[in-house]
Amino acid sequence: MSAVISRQTWEQRAAALSIQSQAFVAGAYQPALDAATFDCISPIDGRVLAQVASCDQADADLAVSNARAVFASGVWSRLAPVERKAVMIRFAELIEQHGEELALLETLDMGKPISDSLAVDIPGAARAIRWSGEAIDKIYDEVAATAHDELGLVTREPVGVVAAIVPWNFPLLMACWKLGPALATGNSVVLKPSEKSPLTAIRLAQLALDAGIPAGVLNVLPGYGHTVGKALALHMDVDTLVFTGSTRIAKQLMIYAGESNMKRVWLEAGGKSPNIVFADAPDLDAAAEAAAGAIAFNQGEVCTAGSRLLVEASIKDIFVQKVAAALQAHWKPGHPLDPATTVGALVDKTQIDTVLRYIEAGQAEGATLVTGGQQVMQASGGLFVEPTLFDGVTNNMRIAREEIFGPVLSVIAFEDFDQAIAIANDSIYGLAAAVWTRDLSRAHRAAKALRAGSVWVNQYDGGDMTAPFGGFKQSGNGRDKSLHAFDKYTELKATWIKF
Ligand code: NAD
Repeated sequence: MSAVISRQTWEQRAAALSIQSQAFVAGAYQPALDAATFDCISPIDGRVLAQVASCDQADADLAVSNARAVFASGVWSRLAPVERKAVMIRFAELIEQHGEELALLETLDMGKPISDSLAVDIPGAARAIRWSGEAIDKIYDEVAATAHDELGLVTREPVGVVAAIVPWNFPLLMACWKLGPALATGNSVVLKPSEKSPLTAIRLAQLALDAGIPAGVLNVLPGYGHTVGKALALHMDVDTLVFTGSTRIAKQLMIYAGESNMKRVWLEAGGKSPNIVFADAPDLDAAAEAAAGAIAFNQGEVCTAGSRLLVEASIKDIFVQKVAAALQAHWKPGHPLDPATTVGALVDKTQIDTVLRYIEAGQAEGATLVTGGQQVMQASGGLFVEPTLFDGVTNNMRIAREEIFGPVLSVIAFEDFDQAIAIANDSIYGLAAAVWTRDLSRAHRAAKALRAGSVWVNQYDGGDMTAPFGGFKQSGNGRDKSLHAFDKYTELKATWIKF
């Protein structure tokens, strides 16, 4: 691990950055076809970082037709897996080599602490690309159990043109969770980053080309959801649409697919994840630290944020004190370029207004504000809010039902196992859940009973590229990460041969 870089050095580097802000189509940067741009504003200080190409229908048409032509040419789609693997590994290496630049772009663009960009986002993005590349020459197709004079082959083929629409909370990481398996399986991709955080995706396109991914295989179209996002979702020549973002937009994308060409739609959407602490948790201090981190990490802008803290009534008061102490000690907002900062800026004005409205709603509905609740550091021109803890929450309050996507934690007391599980599952979402207990049987019973795509025991947010990630219920369908992610980017073909 290299030496810690000071805030001053990061600021000097930020001032010297030359920021690429155009679309990337057919292997070259270019403005939007109608030359439209939008301001990319840093939530750290309100500074305009760049005027970014604002793509629309015509750009989507151009990128998709290029992606289709390159797919049909076979330069990538028919390359031997071992050769695609080598390119993917080079691509991962280039992401690592440009890690500090990418981390800086990410932090300036969406406000997360630079230490997190460096330690979490960029290495995670490189790992997703490398892992998928390394896997691709180790996957075998199937031979069916046929009569002796027949041969039945079950093979996987790339789907063709993939559109990937991603959010702003982990911009590069979410993009790479899609790009890893999509590219490794031979598809062409049109990536649309969030209008709130387009910069790393734009930079990534050049690194992909430099790594040897042929021109036109990865295209990046920055722009708004209702313009270029919608154009991609309705496009008649996009085979598969993969998405990470809100449940509201996820539902809309299913409608767009039905209204157009029935493209496959895979959705990673919102969450309201329960973190359940039984009185026999192995270490209440560790559980409290984890509960604080589960809501404050990444400013709470995490799909799996542990936003509902369910605590057994007998330990509830003492546990709430411990969580409040952990939040106050370790999770204070600070300048995102300061390497010691753990809580950065919220992504934009809309988001901080939403979070502050939910804090008001919690108080209006009768929850008890234990700590936090204030917007801070306003003189900086940035968008900062204190991690906020509400006690005395019931599961029918808005702060317990709706995804806030900010650092607002709701504590709900429960009496016994059945009540804990009932509250945990009483949500439209089913992305993740955690259980803290010393009792192995209780941990397993809870893991089976919880309707969630990921369940963590005596930790929060475990897992890596080897484990599938995705949601039950309105948290989505399909899975990112692991070999299961490859299902989204391939069609199964049955070939039956009579001798
Ligand atoms: P969002 O749904 O507002 O936007 C996501 C993307 O969709 C953006 O690129 C946006 O431009 C685009 N979009 C918006 N309207 C569109 C339209 N009509 N047609 C096509 N595209 C459109 O979500 P967000 O605010 O960027 O991200 C926060 C959400 O993402 C939260 O709900 C969070 O839980 C979710 N999320 C989920 C996961 C997961 O893996 N399940 C991971 C991270 C974030």
